[in-house]
Formats: sequence, C-alpha cells, structure tokens
Amino acid sequence: MTHVGTTPRTTPSRLAKRSTQELEQIYAILDEGLFCHIAYIEGNSPMLLPTGYGRIGDKLYIHGSVGSHLMRSLADGREVCLAVSLLDGLVLARSAFHHSVNYRSVVLFAKGELVTDEQERWDALEAFTEHVMPGRWAEVRQPSASDMKKTMVIAFPIVEASAKMRTGNVNDDEEDLSLPVWAGVLPLSLQASSPIPDPILNPEIAVPAYVEQYNRQRKA
Ligand SMILES: Cc1cc2nc3c(=O)[nH]c(=O)nc-3n(C[C@H](O)[C@H](O)[C@H](O)COP(=O)(O)OP(=O)(O)OC[C@H]3O[C@@H](n4cnc5c(N)ncnc54)[C@H](O)[C@@H]3O)c2cc1C
Repeated sequence: MTHVGTTPRTTPSRLAKRSTQELEQIYAILDEGLFCHIAYIEGNSPMLLPTGYGRIGDKLYIHGSVGSHLMRSLADGREVCLAVSLLDGLVLARSAFHHSVNYRSVVLFAKGELVTDEQERWDALEAFTEHVMPGRWAEVRQPSASDMKKTMVIAFPIVEASAKMRTGNVNDDEEDLSLPVWAGVLPLSLQASSPIPDPILNPEIAVPAYVEQYNRQRKA
C-alpha cells in the first residue's frame, strides 16, 4: 500500500481511526466523486466553489473558461484546500446526539499549476470527460483548436491529502437502547434516472450503453 505523508494539516485531531493516508483509498474516492469544492483566499475573503475534475495518476485536474474568475485566481499557484465527499447513508440513532452519516471523503491541500503543455491539457480534458461519463470521449467531437484556446487547465498534485470515512450502523448509548424508536441506517447513493433525449435528436440514434448503464459506484 502507498501512503501520502502526513503533515500537520492532514493529521486528524479526533476519530483518527476513520482517517487514512492510503493513496489507493484516496484515489478510489476521487474516482467515484463527480465534483469537488475548492476553497481559497480571494483578496480578504474566503471563497468556496464547486467544480468538476478528472484525475491522471497523482494529479487532479480542473478546467474552465479562460475568463473564469476561479480559474484565473487559481492559475497564480495560490494555496487551495479541495474536498470531495461521497454520502453513503444516514445513520438514524435513538438519540438526536448520536445521529450521523456514513461517508467517504478526501481533503487535499495543494497549489495549482497552470498546465501549458498542449498534450497534457488534452489528456486532462479527456480524463475529465471520461471521469464524468466513461466511454464518452471516443464518441463525441473532440475539442477544436478554438475550444482549446478558450479553456484553461490547472493541475493539483495529490501529495498532501487525507481520506476519512464512516461505515457501519448506529452507535447509541447503552441507556437509550430500549427506547421505542426505530434506529438504523438509510443507505443513499447517486442513481441515474431514465435518459431524456434532446428533443431535436435524430430518433435513429440509440442511447449508448454507457449512458443506459451509468453507475458511479467504482472501487471504493
Ligand atoms: C457528508 C459529511 C458530513 C459530515 N457531517 C459532520 C457533522 O455533522 N458533524 C461533524 O462533526 N463532522 C461531520 N463530518 C466529518 C467532518 O468532515 C470532520 O471530519 C469532523 O468534523 C472533524 O473535524 P475536525 O475539525 O476535528 O478535523 P481534524 O481532524 O482536526 O482535521 C485535520 C485534518 O484531518 C483531515 N480530515 C478531517 N476531516 C476530514 C474528512 N471528512 N475527509 C478527509 N480528511 C479529513 C484533513 O486533512 C484535515 O485538515 C462530515 C463529513 C462528511 C463527508
């Protein structure tokens, strides 16, 4: 198993048994998640924005318009804290106090690196597309020179990161166990519903198997 090193800011202060620095676990959560939240300082104010991402090896990539405030801000290499969360269930205890959630999450501290190499930019956009919808990149019109010009790509090295997870059932206090209250876990997961075709789609074009069988649950 490979671990990222623990730093003072990735050291859990409590419930350390729920945390891990194992890269395999970190990657599995990142690969299952669809989007992240990125926190950074803008002027005198904290900012937190959700955005999509893709991963290639030990780098996480985001992309956006060259006019995007987020992208332009992060291109200068400032520190960010990025989080990806997967919600697996609601833990309904007999007491309000012991309610909880089952989850898997990753926190990553990094400085953005503006990607200028054209091949790496291309690979990052492919990784992003395949991350969202595996099988899509090979079928669609790929980015034109003009599309590429309008797009900024930023890489974040996955070096200073942590994963944390809660699994299992309720954890009630002994004296509450006889309360006449239902207790247990309500599992939650991201499920696709039936695809809705574009109203002007040629009706001869069938829904691809990768859309019909879409499933976010990966290795974690
Ligand atoms: C969907 C969801 C809901 C949650 N709801 C609650 C809630 O209602 N109340 C609550 O107290 N906690 C909740 N948590 C857990 C919460 O994220 C923190 O782990 C927890 O509050 C401990 O915070 P702390 O400041 O003591 O962290 P510390 O242990 O002091 O954090 C130190 C370092 O540990 C790592 N770390 C901490 N938390 C996480 C994490 N979740 N994922 C990855 N790395 C982490 C980071 O590197 C962080 O910098 C929830 C988590 C998720 C994903």
